[in-house]
Amino acid sequence: MKTSLRLYDTKTRAVHNVAAANDKHVKIYCCGPTVYRDAHVGNLRTFLLSDLIVRILNFRDVPVYVVQNITDVGHMNENFIAGNIVESTEDKMLEEANRRHIPALAIAREFEAKFHADLALLNISPANLYPRASETIDLMIAAITKLLASGNAYQGTDESIYFAANSFPDYGAISGNRLGALKPGHRYEYVDDGAKKFHADWALWKRAHNRTEMVWETPWGDGFPGWHIECSAMSMEYLQGHVDLHLGGIDLRFPHHENERAQSNSLLAGKEAVDHWVHGEHLLFEGRKMSKSAGNVVLVQDLLERGIDPLALRLCFLENRYRSQMDLTWDAIIAANTMIQRWRGRISEWKNGSPSDEVLIDREVESLINDFENDLDTPKVFQRLRALEKDLELTTNTKREVFLRIDQVLGLDLERPEALTEISAEVSQLLAAREQARADKDFALSDELRDKLALLKIEVRDTAEGQKWDRIY
Ligand SMILES: [Zn+2]
Repeated sequence: MKTSLRLYDTKTRAVHNVAAANDKHVKIYCCGPTVYRDAHVGNLRTFLLSDLIVRILNFRDVPVYVVQNITDVGHMNENFIAGNIVESTEDKMLEEANRRHIPALAIAREFEAKFHADLALLNISPANLYPRASETIDLMIAAITKLLASGNAYQGTDESIYFAANSFPDYGAISGNRLGALKPGHRYEYVDDGAKKFHADWALWKRAHNRTEMVWETPWGDGFPGWHIECSAMSMEYLQGHVDLHLGGIDLRFPHHENERAQSNSLLAGKEAVDHWVHGEHLLFEGRKMSKSAGNVVLVQDLLERGIDPLALRLCFLENRYRSQMDLTWDAIIAANTMIQRWRGRISEWKNGSPSDEVLIDREVESLINDFENDLDTPKVFQRLRALEKDLELTTNTKREVFLRIDQVLGLDLERPEALTEISAEVSQLLAAREQARADKDFALSDELRDKLALLKIEVRDTAEGQKWDRIY
């Protein structure tokens, strides 16, 4: 089943139509969160990408089935050693558990719940399935057993099980990081990696040794899974051995997705497991990479504390194309918040205006959906919507209907009544006086009253339907 949605595929470095291998639905796998801390807005940008794709396909009545993993074991911390990122032996979950003196799984459930709450605040529709790593260990053990049997994996001298990178000659096709060009020490598993045969090999299963929490029995001794194998095991199981569309942040392209592809394709005896690899670009905040050490981590909670509608963040992301690195700022979020409120105001006032024109509505909506389908050209959609807002040719209800239909994809709740409609008695009197001045054709007084209203943060506009006002934020 071919769809009209065209997306850039990182592996072939070209834009292709998204297609489903079967006629039932498009099978989507989206790498999910490691639940040891809050998802910051950069993580949420990737999750919004998945939602946007789902909404566009659904708009065209294309069914989708989305699986997103919850990593609650096996994601190792990353350390910088001699300028390279090297994974340490410390599990992110366990490190946080030790710090807070509570069980790792208690932390996992706490942040998993917060992750779902954040998605809901951003109108990100839930996936069909959220398998947890800690509950799919049997799938990983089965996958590793198969990889050992096919000669793609081996047991190292430390008794951990490693994937033999050389057993997959096509390694590096997604990121361009071919095995021959990879140097030892450049972002590999494990600091103590003397146990593996080749520096680019990675751990599928790690022996527990001194670790006692989150440890499972296997035919190769007790231990715990590596991070990469969970996505292969889950996607192959829950999407029946084929992924139509694989989504994730650009930082996962290498090594996570490269390793996942090597594992999944090897499990399928060389068949390609994923048709289409789509990556969302990095998010900067106020010009810098968001990180705890830089002190610029922004959470959805921070917007709520400033009285900003979280959907303003959704709008900011949509105004930038998913494939461009984006520099988010508080000014941009505040401006987006103002715009959402203005649009909601328009939607309610347009209702009382002139009737709609179905032909024009269909034409405008089709053209906007085409922009979405053209590799998610959301900046163009917003450019067009801003022009439509000001358009004097279209009737108000035509515009209203276009905005509301497109909001099925935008997800900005534009029909939500704007709460801040109450005005003070002073503003009310000034508005009435100005209306009278306009009726009397006393334009000098009318302008004077407009200035007075502006000082009270009220902007007035004269329309065919009379005087209208907006709050200035
Ligand atoms: Zn993944």
